[in-house]
Amino acid sequence: MRMPFTRTRQRTAPTAPAAAAASRRSQSRVALALTAALVASLALAACGDDDSDAEAAPAGTAATTFPAGSTMAELQSAGSITVGTKFDQPLFGLRNLRGEPEGFDVEVAKIITDALGIPEDKVEFVETVSANREPFIQQGRVDMVVATYTINDKRKEVIDFAGPYYVAGQTLMVRADETAITGKDTLAGKRVCSVSGSTPAERIRTEAPQAELTLFDVYSKCAEALKNGQVDAVTTDNAILLGLMDSDPDTFKLVGEPFSTEPYGIGIAKGDDEFRTFINETLTAAYGDGRYEAAYESTIGSVEPEMPTPPAVDNYTS
Ligand code: GLU
Repeated sequence: MRMPFTRTRQRTAPTAPAAAAASRRSQSRVALALTAALVASLALAACGDDDSDAEAAPAGTAATTFPAGSTMAELQSAGSITVGTKFDQPLFGLRNLRGEPEGFDVEVAKIITDALGIPEDKVEFVETVSANREPFIQQGRVDMVVATYTINDKRKEVIDFAGPYYVAGQTLMVRADETAITGKDTLAGKRVCSVSGSTPAERIRTEAPQAELTLFDVYSKCAEALKNGQVDAVTTDNAILLGLMDSDPDTFKLVGEPFSTEPYGIGIAKGDDEFRTFINETLTAAYGDGRYEAAYESTIGSVEPEMPTPPAVDNYTS
């Protein structure tokens, strides 16, 4: 399901550094496209003859009646919701200069909150950093987390995930003039930055055991440390690095092929199967009716216009 794009970001004629940055961006696009192609084939395989889901799924509106006692009914009658997201990740979750959250994760969250019939001004976005996502869900401080949040079995021991709604892959960002670091196998003795509580911070320990790892709480601090020479590389999902690079294109570049698969899910309280099913049905409906495409186009699409096929949601039984 590759959808045509009618609008791409208007760029003025590139200056020399801008042209160099554009070429670095196109290299990173190749990396993203590779991940996207892999995901597309997985999604197609998983879809099978499931197409009827898109028609059958209740999109949800203010008028939808939810089962009594369900999280959906409770949220609908409260008329408000708290959503955890990132605040420092351009393209996915960023608190902009007006103090408003923006990005693909924010738009995906709004698709869900809208389907619950909650008005936009009653959706409270709070910052969840990588390490506090599970605790915030477990403590009930947020109703759901949409925050570049990889679905994995360890996390599923304490929370549940709807989705996936996007798939990224771990890679590396270095300074634009870096020549020695070309991929994960060139990191021995290099200072590499990532974030506590993230899957890339764990994976890099085995993929590049001789790298010197520095961990912060958020990726913007890693980008700052890379810029001022305190570290030599930042490692996390290509999707996140693309956003950081796009906001500082003359300073950074992405290198190497993606070396993991990071399916992004929506974190919710453990055992809330009804809510998980509702979110999955809403996502599936949004894939088919243009809402997902609109969310993509207005955010990631400004840098990476070709939308990958959305991954089939996983209706696992817990
Ligand atoms: N997707 C990875 C994770 O959930 C890295 C991104 C992040 O830390 O938010 O750990």
